[in-house]
Amino acid sequence: MDCIFCDIIEGRSEAEILYQDENIISFLDIRPVNYGHTLVITKKHFDNFLSIPPNELNYLMKGMQFVASAVIKSVNADGFNLILNSGKAAGQTIFHFHFHIIPRYLNDFRFKPDFKRYSDGAIKEFADKIRSELNKQKDSFYG
Ligand code: AMP
Ligand code: ZN
Repeated sequence: MDCIFCDIIEGRSEAEILYQDENIISFLDIRPVNYGHTLVITKKHFDNFLSIPPNELNYLMKGMQFVASAVIKSVNADGFNLILNSGKAAGQTIFHFHFHIIPRYLNDFRFKPDFKRYSDGAIKEFADKIRSELNKQKDSFYG
């Protein structure tokens, strides 16, 4: 399988590795939104957020907290965004699942989507659809 992040894990491609243990690895993004922009990934290859088993997600989230705290302190950021892009439509370009840690500074820039408004009653329709899907999936998800 052709995966640049697996290549980094295996040492076939270079990266500015910040931290690694037996389950996760973290390195600097080569095209940072702000300096110190960091990626955190599992060493095992999973395509996207929905395909990661719970134990791997736990390792990843704990590592995220650890790495984010050090990154933010090192670059004197005022805050940070954790971003995950899942699927091409959401901007995912590397299909080895990863979180972005993006250091933020007061007034640096704004993410500004065109916010929508629900028409009358539509918010309940959307909520009903999602609740119904959650009910369908609950038993298989939680076991
Ligand atoms: P995404 O769009 O969420 O899939 O993010 C992929 C990220 O990986 C982008 O922000 C890229 O800049 C970054 N990236 C791609 N190749 C490398 C690489 N060889 N080393 C570090 N970061 C990379
Ligand atoms: Zn991979």
